[in-house]
Amino acid sequence: MTEIHRIKCGNGNCYIIENGSSGVLIDTGKKEYAAKVLEACRGYNVKLIVLTHAHFDHAENAAEISERLGIPIAMSEKDVDLISSNNAQQLYSDTFLGKIVLSVSLKDFSKRAMPPFKPTVFLHEGDSLSEYGIDARIIELPGHTDGSIGIDVETKHLIIGDALMNMFYPTVSMLYHNKKEMLESAKKISALGSRTVFFGHGKPIVNKQWIK
Ligand SMILES: [Zn+2]
Repeated sequence: MTEIHRIKCGNGNCYIIENGSSGVLIDTGKKEYAAKVLEACRGYNVKLIVLTHAHFDHAENAAEISERLGIPIAMSEKDVDLISSNNAQQLYSDTFLGKIVLSVSLKDFSKRAMPPFKPTVFLHEGDSLSEYGIDARIIELPGHTDGSIGIDVETKHLIIGDALMNMFYPTVSMLYHNKKEMLESAKKISALGSRTVFFGHGKPIVNKQWIK
């Protein structure tokens, strides 16, 4: 049976998908959490790092964990521009709380320089993780960033990065590079039906109609 382990990293989450013989790490957290995430990987035979998108709070430890575990980094090629600067895809918000989160994020984007890394696996809609021993497929969820992706595990668990957020309450993403695409991705998640949704920020909840 495949299980999802949530690794809390401050206000963000990483996840390990594992089935007793293989594991895949989803996102890597901010640098303060490198040791915690590495420790959480122990014993799960983690074979791949998947980045839901390349914002630093998800990708800052990608270089270190990839090197320490000797495993490749997979992501969408549409987020590669974010590796050298998280400002490469401008973010917007139109809610009160979103604007506060945005101003904090933008300060962090200019303060933090991610250790550079080279993804060697580029993921696309429908790609399977079976060659890494995990029954899961990739779902493209652009909008928060151009290359945002989700991981649909056994059509039961859906890890969605920041395509939706549960930071203060469950909602469509408060920050987006492309609002129209972000809303379409939220509809796409609703259309998947019965799933537990695992966020990049906040506790998991059951899937629902994200846009009324
Ligand atoms: Zn993000």
